[in-house]
Amino acid sequence: MTQLALVIDLNVCVGCQACVTSCKEWNTSGDAGPLPDERAYGAGPSGTFFNRVQTYEVGSYPATETIHFPKSCLHCEDPPCVPVCPTGASYKRAEDGIVLVDTDKCIGCKYCAWACPYGAREFDSNDRVMKKCTLCVDRIHDKALDPADRKPACVMACPTSARLFGDIHDPQSEVSRAIREQGGYTLMPEWGTHPANHYLPRRTIRLAVHPDELERAENPLKVDRRQPRPAPSEPTLDDAVTW
Ligand code: SF4
Ligand code: SF4
Ligand code: SF4
Repeated sequence: MTQLALVIDLNVCVGCQACVTSCKEWNTSGDAGPLPDERAYGAGPSGTFFNRVQTYEVGSYPATETIHFPKSCLHCEDPPCVPVCPTGASYKRAEDGIVLVDTDKCIGCKYCAWACPYGAREFDSNDRVMKKCTLCVDRIHDKALDPADRKPACVMACPTSARLFGDIHDPQSEVSRAIREQGGYTLMPEWGTHPANHYLPRRTIRLAVHPDELERAENPLKVDRRQPRPAPSEPTLDDAVTW
């Protein structure tokens, strides 16, 4: 059985949010939309996003790292969000393994959101129904598109090619090779959900920063701890400018 999925390379994701905005743009005007925003420019903004990039700083100063972590529905092979749905609105497609919500059947009870251990469900508070990443099902099978464009919007938009898309059950696919060769892993395997989406780990190049490097990074003119200063007789910027 085909199992389509995203494989996300955490080593090259730069947290630019291009996947977030392209996902929102494509899906708000597509079959799954509209995706509402509330108080977008006011206090406490919120909205419905199928893809979010969470950014963390890890480690202790000065040996810190910034990690950008994109997260959307993982299209689990054993999705706990499906059997809890009382109306059959939540389902997994046999032909490609995509997990979807039929919004015509959804009654907005949120059982699926409670069942999903990854927080991947998104409640549309305007339509009072549950939504989530569709793996761009209305795009990847669209025969009107050029074959090269039959990919999720987030994959097309990623400027660093951190997002790969394909069939993880095909051992020859690009995603299967990446998982095999680069140590791809799934989130929280202990839950037994068998997520289809995988992540490629960050490759740590250097663990420690020498204090002297920090000095130079802070201000290149401070190399050797000498601050360039004008001679007392020369005019300074304060002499020429009224602040
Ligand atoms: Fe369901 Fe959550 Fe798995 Fe997506 S990530 S298939 S919403 S359990
Ligand atoms: Fe099913 Fe909708 Fe309830 Fe989720 S919120 S369990 S999709 S009826
Ligand atoms: Fe959004 Fe489509 Fe990417 Fe899912 S696959 S995160 S719906 S752009």
